[in-house]
Parts: sequence; C-alpha cells; structure tokens
Amino acid sequence: MRLWIRDPLAMLADGGACGVVVEAGRIAELVGAGGPAAPVDNVFDASRHVVIPGLVNTHHHFYQTLTRAHPAAINKELFPWLKALYPIWAEHMTAERFRLAVRLALTELLMSGCTTAADHHFFYPPGLEDAVDIEDAEATALGMRMTLTRGAVNLRATEGGLVDDRVIQPDETVLADCERVLARYHDRRDGAFRQVALAPCAPFNVTRRLMEETARLAARYDCRLHTHLGETADENDYCLDHFGCRPVDYLEETGWMSERVWLAHGIHFTDAEIARLGRHRIGVCHCPTSNMVLASGSCRTKELEAAGAIVGLGVDGSASNDNSNLMETVRHALMLGRLTYGAAGVTHRDALRWATEGSARCLGRDDIGRIAAGKEADLAFYTLDELRFSGAGDPLAALVLCGAHRADRVMIGGVWRVLDGAPCGVDLQRLRQAHAEAARPFLQGF
Ligand SMILES: [Zn+2]
Repeated sequence: MRLWIRDPLAMLADGGACGVVVEAGRIAELVGAGGPAAPVDNVFDASRHVVIPGLVNTHHHFYQTLTRAHPAAINKELFPWLKALYPIWAEHMTAERFRLAVRLALTELLMSGCTTAADHHFFYPPGLEDAVDIEDAEATALGMRMTLTRGAVNLRATEGGLVDDRVIQPDETVLADCERVLARYHDRRDGAFRQVALAPCAPFNVTRRLMEETARLAARYDCRLHTHLGETADENDYCLDHFGCRPVDYLEETGWMSERVWLAHGIHFTDAEIARLGRHRIGVCHCPTSNMVLASGSCRTKELEAAGAIVGLGVDGSASNDNSNLMETVRHALMLGRLTYGAAGVTHRDALRWATEGSARCLGRDDIGRIAAGKEADLAFYTLDELRFSGAGDPLAALVLCGAHRADRVMIGGVWRVLDGAPCGVDLQRLRQAHAEAARPFLQGF
C-alpha cells in the first residue's frame, strides 16, 4: 500500500515540498510539485502538520520515573544525588514497579514524538534480572524501536564505588547475561526494531575487567557500547585518585576508544581530549535538561562536532530531568547552546538534527533519523494549533522556539502509533494511576 502524506505545512527534509509517499514501512519517495511518481492507494492530508523525522532518544533511565522530584535528591549535584537515591531505589524496586516505570517513560517519549529510544539500564537488584526482557515487551506493545542496553554497576562501596551493594552483580553474571541478551535481541539488519548495546554504568562504579570484557564482547557481536563519561568535575577527580588518569585516558586503556562507543553527557573534556574523541568518531549524547538540573555544566557540542565526534540528544533519567519529553530537550539544547555559542551559533535546525540524525548515528544507525527515500518511515507530526504558536512565522523554528511538547501523530515503520495526540492502545488515566501507586513506596519516610 502506498500512502501519500500530502502537503505538510513544513517538513524537515531536503526536498519533498508536497510531502512523502510511504510504502512497506519505508519512505518510498519525496514528492515534488508534480505529485507522486506512481499512483497511491491512500492520501493523508498533512496541511495542518509540521513533519519531522521521529526523534531518537539516546540516554535515559526509565526506572527513575518512580523517583521524580524526590525530596531526598532535589537541589543536589550528581554525586550526593546518587548517594541519596541508590538506597531508596535498592530498597523499593520490584519487577512490577519497574514494568510500570518503563511503560510510562516510553509512553511519554512517544507522545513527544520519539520513535526510537535507548535506555541505559544498569540497575539489577534481586528480582529484576529480567529488566531487559521487560523493556523489550513494553516497547513491543507500543510499537517503538529500542536499543536495549545491558548495563551494570559492580564496584562495591568498600572498593570505592558509590552505589548500594544490593544492586551489584558479579562480573561473570553480568557478562553471561550480556551474551544472552545479545543472542536474543540484537538485530543488525536495516529496519531493526531491537538492537542491543553493552553499557557499564560509569568508570567510577564498575570494575576495570568489566570495561575491558564488554569492549571485547561488543567487537565479537558487532554491537554498540555506552557509558556515562565526563559528566562532572568530581568524576575527573575520582578517576585521577583511583586510576591515576582522567576518564578519557581510562576509556583508551580499557579498549573503549572506538567508533562503537557513544557517551552520555561528555561535558568536562579538554581541547586535546575532544580532538581524540573526534578522531575516533565517538558519539556524545548531550543531555541539556539533566545537566542544568544537576548543575553539571554544558556539553561542548560544536567543538565535538568540529573535531569529528557525533552529537545526539537524550532526556537522561527522570530523577534528573524530571520528565521524558524529547521535544523539550531539543528546546533546551538550543537555549543552553546559545549561552555558549551565541544566537547564531546553535540554530533550531542544529538542535533538531542532533535529536534525529545525530542521535541515530550515536546508535550506529543510518536507516532512521532522516526523511529521505529508502529510510524507515518514522515520522513525528505536530500541529501549531495551541495558543503558544499563534502568530508564529517559520513553522520549523516555531516547533523549537515556541516549544512543541506533544506530537499530534506519530508513525513508526509506516504504522500510526499516536493519533490525535493519544498513544494507540494506552489508557493514559489507568497508566497514570498505576504508576503513581507503584511510586508511592519510594517516598516512604519522606
Ligand atoms: Zn544517565
């Protein structure tokens, strides 16, 4: 079936003034003034819609939706924030609560126009051994693409780690499960709905052996690698104290200086480190909202790109955002970037490019993230009907500057997954109620 998405108000693409034709889950053609090259079976009138590639989220911690604006953690920087939250997470997480957290985070992302998400999941208290499988099932129910990550924390507090010992798994358990998850879910084909990345949490909370072994496994299975790096100045101090080198040196020592890698945050790098990361085409997921909330600093996006690194966007975990709205993150990337680079230094097109093509490249994909013939038909549609858009001139700039928060329609692989602002097959009221119930125990004693 050929569907013509006809005459959008504006579309983020090179060409296609009269829209696109979608066929068999892919974009078959961009339509010019002469109309489609071949007959179509159906037409969707997009004249009320601004159409962009489906957004790609490259860093999140879904489980943290259960502890948003938590009294123990608000108004703290990263290390004290982590120390406050780990015991609370370890004490109260169950598989059922986790499932609701995942469902809620994915639904929020989808409603904001996100079609592909990577969740950095490193948290495995007893009972949560199937976390990756739960994420797969929930993404399947919503029809979303995901890069599932098998993460870990495994440096005990007595060894200098910052996490609660209850969430630690030994190296062997982690590595065996990495292989299980890779064998079960990692699909390297174009158009994949599931891929797997290996994702030790951060240099300061995993063993050196785990860093080295996951790099080897990633080469063997041809998958991506992900970790937090360069988020705070505290992290640089910690690495100097414990490893005698800075985080980027540690990355190199453990076999992670590779094109397979995308890093979360990437703020506190020297010029020389940026040049090294660029030479190796490392991806950096910029998380402006979280970086502002935790007062971590600002990613040097422009220097990284100029050096050859790839920049994508992420909302980061919902305990430091505290929502999962990727369009809002696009807006924050523009605003925070302008404080560093000036008004013309970061444009709305830069911020949208990071959240689409840049993020897709961070995940090692070139089949998504752009509206072009042959790409997957992952599209987000926004109307400019709300009061906040009234009087707006440039429709694409308006999405970012006026602040589009909610997609009116979302298509993934040619299938509608959001209609009239509502995710298909989700009872939002029931989800809200069940998730709030699941979150209540995390507030016990506060
Ligand atoms: Zn994170």
